[in-house]
Amino acid sequence: MRIISLGWGVQSFTLAAMVALGELEPVDFAIHADTTHEFSGTYAHAAKWAPWLEAHGVKVVTVKNENQRDMINRWGGLRIPAYTITKKGDGQVHRQCTGDWKIQPVRRYIQSVRNRQPVEQWIGISLDEFQRMRDSDVKYITNRYPLVERRMTRNDCIAWLERHGLEVPPKSACTFCPFHNTAEWRKIKASPADWQEAVTVDRAIRKARPPYDLFVHSSRKPLEEVDLRTPEEKGQMSIFDEPDENGECSGVCFL
Ligand code: SF4
Repeated sequence: MRIISLGWGVQSFTLAAMVALGELEPVDFAIHADTTHEFSGTYAHAAKWAPWLEAHGVKVVTVKNENQRDMINRWGGLRIPAYTITKKGDGQVHRQCTGDWKIQPVRRYIQSVRNRQPVEQWIGISLDEFQRMRDSDVKYITNRYPLVERRMTRNDCIAWLERHGLEVPPKSACTFCPFHNTAEWRKIKASPADWQEAVTVDRAIRKARPPYDLFVHSSRKPLEEVDLRTPEEKGQMSIFDEPDENGECSGVCFL
């Protein structure tokens, strides 16, 4: 059995589209673990392009966890890697969201359909982020990285999509992901629905782990109070400050 982990970002959509157009061998399905907190642009892209993939022979399956929208897991732990300040200094909560929202529902689905077959899981990591490649931690799944095999970078994926008349999707990540860089937060602020969700979650988690407050932004301030201006807007010169705008989520959501 061969599957694609479809996050609906640039790289995984490129993988699925390459299968759809016959540049890569067929897969049994492309599976999307819906965190239910993705950007509105990601959902719009998925709604538009899932039917196209299906029409070209790529079956798209969407899975999600129970209690998906809960920020707190059943053991009382916060799922997202929020920032805090404790008496020992700055800290960050251990990340459970990738496992709870992505890995678990995908594996549960795979187990329900694989009929004891081994599974080759294609992951949309490109050459420029090869350091995110990992071996699978379960025996029945082997991870494969076709974009790295083809030495394709993220920009190559964008060029490939454009060459084939396909839409380039926005980056895929949760609206409130604590790993967003400043450039990403600025983009989110420009999208009122996404910003509203991020602010709402930031407020909702504040007192989730007393006695220390929690924040989605690394400044450990309420999100709506964070100064997201560029150094130039602040009147400073900068050639180094701004992280890569094109970088995928440093949350290392492997799926
Ligand atoms: S994008 Fe961020 S918040 Fe969402 S599952 Fe990944 S690490 Fe967690």
